[in-house]
Amino acid sequence: MKWSIDFKGVLSPFGILGAMFQKPNTIAYPSVKKELVTGYRGFHTNLLATCIGCANCQDVCMNEAIDMIKIDEVYNEKNASQCIPRIDYGRCCWCSLCTDVCPPHSLKLEEECIGISKYASDFLYLPKNK
Ligand code: SF4
Ligand code: SF4
Repeated sequence: MKWSIDFKGVLSPFGILGAMFQKPNTIAYPSVKKELVTGYRGFHTNLLATCIGCANCQDVCMNEAIDMIKIDEVYNEKNASQCIPRIDYGRCCWCSLCTDVCPPHSLKLEEECIGISKYASDFLYLPKNK
């Protein structure tokens, strides 16, 4: 019986060492942050001083990603329902239809888009008041 050594097979795993000298394909977040693109559809914001609680945003959302939440504080006298939208980011597809149909344009999408949490409940998101 003749024996032979497969040098290529033996040495090929060491090829991975070359990766140590390659430029990484990822960024070292959070110390390095990626520049956000202007107009990127990130988190929702809702200016409560103008939101009238009409629920147009909820009605138009095809993903049923919006539910209306009752609030105690009076931000806007015209908000008779005293309800404001809350977004489920487990369902939202960032189509922006909800912002398109908002009569006072209080609901918007901001460029900020990075959100990290280990709690699923944090993805039921009350838009920032701005
Ligand atoms: S962006 Fe689209 S999917 Fe997301 S909450 Fe608004 S309407 Fe629904
Ligand atoms: S965010 Fe706009 S569409 Fe939604 S309830 Fe408020 S006013 Fe109506």
